[in-house]
Amino acid sequence: MKVLKFGGTSVGSALRMHKLVELINNNEPKIVVLSAMSGTTNALVEIANAFHQRNFSRATELIKAFENNYLNVIDELFATITSLHKAEKFLEEKIDLLHSFSKKGFSNADECLVLAQGELISTTLFHYYLEEIKIESVLLPALEFMRTDANEEPDMKQIEKLIEEELKKYPSQKLFITQGYICKNAKGEIDNLKRGGSDYTATIIGAAIDSSEIQIWTDIDGMHNNDPRVVKNTHPIAQLSFDEAAELAYFGAKILHPTCILPAKDKKIPVRLLNTMQPEAAGTLINKESQGDNIKAVAAKDGITAIKIKSGRMLLAYGFLSTVFEIFERNKTSIDMITTSEVAVSLTIDNTKNLEKILEELKEFGTVDVDENQTIICIVGDFEADKQGYAVKVFDSLKNIPIRMISYGGSENNISVLVNSEFKNQALVALNEGLF
Ligand code: ASP
Ligand code: MG
Repeated sequence: MKVLKFGGTSVGSALRMHKLVELINNNEPKIVVLSAMSGTTNALVEIANAFHQRNFSRATELIKAFENNYLNVIDELFATITSLHKAEKFLEEKIDLLHSFSKKGFSNADECLVLAQGELISTTLFHYYLEEIKIESVLLPALEFMRTDANEEPDMKQIEKLIEEELKKYPSQKLFITQGYICKNAKGEIDNLKRGGSDYTATIIGAAIDSSEIQIWTDIDGMHNNDPRVVKNTHPIAQLSFDEAAELAYFGAKILHPTCILPAKDKKIPVRLLNTMQPEAAGTLINKESQGDNIKAVAAKDGITAIKIKSGRMLLAYGFLSTVFEIFERNKTSIDMITTSEVAVSLTIDNTKNLEKILEELKEFGTVDVDENQTIICIVGDFEADKQGYAVKVFDSLKNIPIRMISYGGSENNISVLVNSEFKNQALVALNEGLF
């Protein structure tokens, strides 16, 4: 069985939903994971915010716009009166649910319930549409099997067991539709896998059912070798290893949810990134081995803050680094890049929520310098230790750009450099010319 995930734009209008049928209507057994229609989750976030602020007139206004939008969608989606009425009735229930919060208080659990409606609506409407055109399918409720544990991580054991029970109910079915993003947490409340989490749903389900392949369908033809917004003539990367794809997803290639590679990697299930607007394009295949020993891609992550701690006490001392790391750990801030010398350590973070506190604690150990507005440029490929010449190529390309930090050898797949964000575009273009 394959798992196919379609993102917000792939179900973004009645027309896109009609087109989607062509991609899934064959005899191959599959689970189709859908995001909310594009714009929907953002609209629900706004509605939830209005309730949090107890701005009920604003909430009512937003819900009205939400309803009108969906009335148009269903009007275009369905051809028969029966289906249209069924969809209208379903939508009315959803709209009533959204309005119901005007009368009560609004908790975080309520917010999760509101955010869950986008995927519940897209999958139900699509399922009704399949019914209308006489394609048999089963709507699998993700809330019956998607579970997270007390650490907000997917509870794989539970998910495996529960999804198997669900699927067993329909032994002769080949086409299943389910919701991305939504789940229940360890307390049994409705929750979600964070923004962009539908990709994660797809790879979790893929791993849970030992799927033969996971396909992530978006509106781009795969992961590109550089940022198409900055560099001309980028091209889709034909193949990546799981580790290379994880580095790229984390460091900027927005096409994939960064943690979603893990479940697929654990079970060695190939992941294909495909384009709904251009279904015949090869896209990107992510699987076990890295193929072709060369530099595969460049990505950039903005909004980075670099911190340098310089201390005489570091010289020949042990335990200095662990003291520094503990400060970040205590302040729940993860570190991306690190470089050390005998008397100083530089590191980067992207979450500055607790920066003040961190700096205060670090200052007890030495002089601390902070550089904001930095960008990590990450060069991804297969750089095994016995291979030569890659670092030279990278730094030769960057010879006219001031570099703040360099990290090489941390993994076999990544060379990272930190530059001031004002040099980002220049660096991406220079690397494109020098490397590809
Ligand atoms: N609908 C959710 C979001 O917009 C999840 C997703 O699309 O992946 O973040
Ligand atoms: Mg998405």
